[in-house]
Amino acid sequence: MRSFQVCRCGEPMQFAERIDPKPTGGEVLLKVLAAGVCHSDLHIWEGFYDMGGGKVMRLQDRGVKLPLTMGHENVGEVVALGPRARGVKIGDKRLVYPWVGCGSCKVCKRGEEQLCMAPRFLGVYRDGGYASHLMVPHPRYLLPLGKMKPLEAAPLACSGLTAYSALKKLGPLVKSEPVVVIGAGGLGLMAVAIVKAMKGKGTIAVDIDPVKRETAMRLGALAAIDPNAPDALDQVKRAAGGPIWAAIDFVGNEQTARLGVDALVKGGRLIVVGLFGGEITLSLPLIPIRAMTVQGSYTGSLAELQELVKLVRNKPLPLIPTKTVRLEQAQDVIADIKAGKVVGRRVLTPA
Ligand SMILES: [Zn+2]
Ligand SMILES: [Zn+2]
Repeated sequence: MRSFQVCRCGEPMQFAERIDPKPTGGEVLLKVLAAGVCHSDLHIWEGFYDMGGGKVMRLQDRGVKLPLTMGHENVGEVVALGPRARGVKIGDKRLVYPWVGCGSCKVCKRGEEQLCMAPRFLGVYRDGGYASHLMVPHPRYLLPLGKMKPLEAAPLACSGLTAYSALKKLGPLVKSEPVVVIGAGGLGLMAVAIVKAMKGKGTIAVDIDPVKRETAMRLGALAAIDPNAPDALDQVKRAAGGPIWAAIDFVGNEQTARLGVDALVKGGRLIVVGLFGGEITLSLPLIPIRAMTVQGSYTGSLAELQELVKLVRNKPLPLIPTKTVRLEQAQDVIADIKAGKVVGRRVLTPA
């Protein structure tokens, strides 16, 4: 088994070679067919998140141990099974749910492993898919691909699931109201495409970049609006044909969160997903008077990924531009992400 590991934060990843591990108990060993390179891998590699105002959050203080094989958007082929692994067989191709929790706490038992306080996330706290092989703790984390190619399915594990879980938090509003999607980067565009697949009312994309606005329109947004326009908020409301009930902030900075809050009508909901950073002040009486909900969303649950896969497996989502690269090039991809040179997605194909 070959893996490409972060040995010291911020230094080039290194190849490690060892004998293929043997699955024990309910474990399943996969050969990695596709491993998406997510933007958050840049932060894991660097070893910290910039919290704004000169503050940083160090990942090693949060339990991330080195050496680490990154990669949490994985599709693989089953090559070995532990004695208690049921439900999959050798040769099956599967998408991997990476947000694995401890499995025994209240939160995990409730089915929200992504919120577990003792996480075992693959590619973050445990070895992930920047490797020839990937060990998955239990077959329940493996999802069938349907008609999707490995390349199409891999991004569902992180960006697809994150967008879907945020949409789910809007409940029935997705069907009855247009959703304002703030930020039409990878996640926002994914949300535009998923709302279409869910047969929702539609989306109004808000982004400063004209190319991203155009892409959002191509993926089926009802309208795409430049937030820098002096009448941006009016444009959003006009496009919605009335007041705004539902918005998702995929950027998460001061301007976007402010826009989201200001757009909402009484009873409206803003879901915050983006981690860009910053802060807003919120006048407290407005929360009850406008009966406003502001909720955060972080990745999503296993059940949500199962729903999402069911929704798109026979009619894969239109792909944002995706390029495959060899495992050896992972470090270059990370450097390109850091330099802001990556448009669309990069997916490693180790096998
Ligand atoms: Zn990710
Ligand atoms: Zn747990």
